[in-house]
Amino acid sequence: MAEQDRMESAAQPFLPFALPDIDDAEIDAVVACLRSGWVTTGPATRQFEHDFAAYLGQPGLQAISVNSATAGLHLALEGLGIGPGDEVIVPTMTFTATAEVVRYLGAQPVLVDVDPDHMNIDLAAVEAAITPRTRAIMPVHYAGLACDMDALLALARRHALRVVEDAAHAFPTRYKGQLVGTLGSDATVFSFYANKTMTTGEGGMVVTRDPELARRVRLMRIHGISQDAFNRYVSRTPAWFYEVVAAGFKYNLTDIASAIGIQQLRKIDRFARRREQLAQRYDAGLAGLPLQLPARADHAGDDGAVSTHAWHLYVVRLAPQTPLGRDTLIQALSERGIGTSVHFIPLHRHPYWRDSGSLVPAQFPVAEACFGRMLTLPLYTRMTDADQDRVIRALHELLA
Ligand SMILES: *Cc1c(COP(=O)(O)O)cnc(C)c1O
Repeated sequence: MAEQDRMESAAQPFLPFALPDIDDAEIDAVVACLRSGWVTTGPATRQFEHDFAAYLGQPGLQAISVNSATAGLHLALEGLGIGPGDEVIVPTMTFTATAEVVRYLGAQPVLVDVDPDHMNIDLAAVEAAITPRTRAIMPVHYAGLACDMDALLALARRHALRVVEDAAHAFPTRYKGQLVGTLGSDATVFSFYANKTMTTGEGGMVVTRDPELARRVRLMRIHGISQDAFNRYVSRTPAWFYEVVAAGFKYNLTDIASAIGIQQLRKIDRFARRREQLAQRYDAGLAGLPLQLPARADHAGDDGAVSTHAWHLYVVRLAPQTPLGRDTLIQALSERGIGTSVHFIPLHRHPYWRDSGSLVPAQFPVAEACFGRMLTLPLYTRMTDADQDRVIRALHELLA
C-alpha cells in the first residue's frame, strides 16, 4: 500500500463486522425500567414474551424468555428428557453452545458435516449418523438461512427423533412463507446476544407449541420453583410461599434486558429490510471477484410462499485458485480498518470436541474446505452505503 493510502485509511474509523443498533428508544426504556424499581424478571419480561409470540403470530405458540440462547437450548433439551446415554446430532459448522448443552445433560453430541451450498446441516450425513441411541437433531439455520425443514422434520419423524432448532441467526427468517419458530419442531431457540439481528445485551427466547415442554422450561428456568416470579408478581395469595419441585437453573431474563428487547422487536422489520439491502449491495459490488457469495433463499413457490434470509452473517468464500490466502486477506482488510470474522472454526477442530469425540478432519470434508476459505464481512443495520463501499473497494483492490 502506498504511504498516502495508508494515511487515508488510518484516518477512517474502524468498521467492525457487527454492531448493535441502539438509540434513545432503548435507552429511555432502560432508564424507565431502572426508575420503576423492578429490574429483574417482571412486567417488561412478560410483555416482551407476549410481543415476541405475537410477532411469530401462530396461535398456541409460547415464547419463554431466558438469559441466553445457550440457556434456552439447554432447557429445551432438558425438557425433552435428553440425558446420559443419548446422542444428539449437531452440525460441526456452529458455535460451541449448540453442542455444549448436550454435554451439560450428560448426553453425547454427534457432529456431522454440512452442505457445500448453504453450509447448513447435511441431511444425508444426519441420516448416516443415526444410531439406536439417537434422540434428537439440532439444526442450525446458518447465517440466517433456514435449513430444509420439510425434509429434516420428515427425517426426524421417520426415526422418531426430537428436533430443537438453533435459530440464533434466524430472526426473522422465513422458510416457504413460514417464520422460523413456527415450523413444527419441538422447540426453536433465538439469541439476543450483542451481535445478533436484535439484541438485549444477553438474552434468548425458547419458542414451542408443546404445553408440557413449555411448562418444564418455565419451571427449570427459575430454580425449579413451581410458582415462578411472574406468578408471584401478580399473585393475590401471599407471595412468600413457593415450592421447589426440581433442581432448576437460574436462566431468567431481567426486565432491564426485556425493556431493550421490546424496543428492538418494534424495529425488527426495518432491521431485516436494511440487512437484505446490504446483502444485495454486496452481491452486486462483489460480483466478478474470485469469491463464492452466500447462498440465497431461493424458494418462491407459486403460492407466493417465499423464503427469506435474515442475513445475520454475510459469509464469502475465496475461490480455490486465489493466490491470496484467507488469513492474509483478513490481515490486509484489518490494515485498511475493516473488521471481519470467521464463522465458524468447525467444532471438530477445537481441542475439546476433537479429543472427546476422537474426531479427524477427514470426517468433515465440506466443513474443512469451507473453513479454509471463508470470512464474514461487516454487515449491520447502522452500516452506511459509504461504509459498505469501503469494504467492496478494499476487496477489489486486494482480489481483482
Ligand atoms: C450466538 C450463538 C449461540 C449462543 O447464543 P447466546 O445467546 O450467546 O447464548 C448459539 N448458537 C449459535 C449458532 C450462535 O451463533
